Amino acid sequence: MKDTKDFKPANNIQDLQYFGEFGGVNPSISDSSTYTFLSAKTMFDTFEGNADGCYLYSRHSTPSNLYLGEALAAMEGTETANVAASGMGAITPTILQFCETGDHIVSSRTIYGGTYAFLKNFAPRLGINSSFVDITKLEVVEAAITSKTKIIYCESVSNPLLEIADIKGLAAIAKKHKLKLLVDNTFSPLTISPAVLGADVVLHSLTKFINGSSDTMGGVVCGSQELIDTLRNVNDGACMLLGASMDSLRAASILKNLRTLHIRMQQHSKNAMFLAEKFEKDGLRTVYPGLASHTGHELMKSQMNPQYGFGGMLTIDVGSLDKANTLMELMQERNLGYLAVSLGFYKTLFSAPGSSTSSEIPEEEQSEMGLTDGLIRFSIGLDADIKRTYQLMKQCMKDVGVL
Ligand SMILES: *Cc1c(COP(=O)(O)O)cnc(C)c1O
Repeated sequence: MKDTKDFKPANNIQDLQYFGEFGGVNPSISDSSTYTFLSAKTMFDTFEGNADGCYLYSRHSTPSNLYLGEALAAMEGTETANVAASGMGAITPTILQFCETGDHIVSSRTIYGGTYAFLKNFAPRLGINSSFVDITKLEVVEAAITSKTKIIYCESVSNPLLEIADIKGLAAIAKKHKLKLLVDNTFSPLTISPAVLGADVVLHSLTKFINGSSDTMGGVVCGSQELIDTLRNVNDGACMLLGASMDSLRAASILKNLRTLHIRMQQHSKNAMFLAEKFEKDGLRTVYPGLASHTGHELMKSQMNPQYGFGGMLTIDVGSLDKANTLMELMQERNLGYLAVSLGFYKTLFSAPGSSTSSEIPEEEQSEMGLTDGLIRFSIGLDADIKRTYQLMKQCMKDVGVL
């Protein structure tokens, strides 16, 4: 395992060197769904999984997808990576590759709504059942492990409650019980490096901060060469057979956006920190990992790459869904951001997760985990003048009676 202190994810991306076919500064885009072979024997070998470096068919891999995958593997410090058509297109095949009928998963209870719905409603149809636990309590996580457990699943910074997972602690439990630790790092790219802290697999929705333009979907599985080869295997690989492969044009565009990720994350974090401190001082119930009042603040500090800040996500609780809705509509009217799900855009995005992105989670479970009706989740934008944004937001809050 590498030392976190010496691990420089943005340098690793910067240091990659690719050229296009004609010396272009960007790699050429592979605009083909299928590839020729110089000999029939090589085609046969490729199907047998023995022809390294040969392209076969674009659902398997493409040069553009490999470039993006290698950049993301460099960012996460894993041997390699496989990109997918969406975050869910990376998460679901990876889980299915590790688990078969009768197997069990210990999952954080605060995870992305789609992942929760998959584990809770879909995977049981295949005989794969999950226990959902408070991931911040390591003894609760360990107690939920059974002889059938195959994986521990969590998000480094959870959606939408921004709980911080103790990745080193979870990795030690996983190792002790011979399980795999899968970490979705979508909320904290560059800031947290789960594989360096001991996770076996790092997953991302590229749709969010990494692409950062809200113009495409994408996902990635970062892990060992052995895992990625298995996922791509033509005979029994879940990525290959379930078919959520990324298109080369998208891979090329995401790779270009990835190069500014470090600058964007710094600005998202700076703006979010500024607003979180102001909101908290104003007396709003504010959750942001950068605040000393956050229960995971010290843990986050101990496992983060500090130059990227505490991330762009924060939540406030304005008391009721009605108030949350009125406030969000007013903020949109005054052009402070968009009432939209998703995250990582240049504009601020806000939504009430209880009735949107986490509505897959039943109401009683929502209240048990602290997901209240009046919760607004913000993905703070790249605003050049965050002081002005704050003044305008504060006025909105006064106008709807939240402040
Ligand atoms: C959005 C998201 C996903 C799913 O990604 P898609 O690209 O929408 O399929 C998974 N995990 C987290 C934390 C997310 O925010």
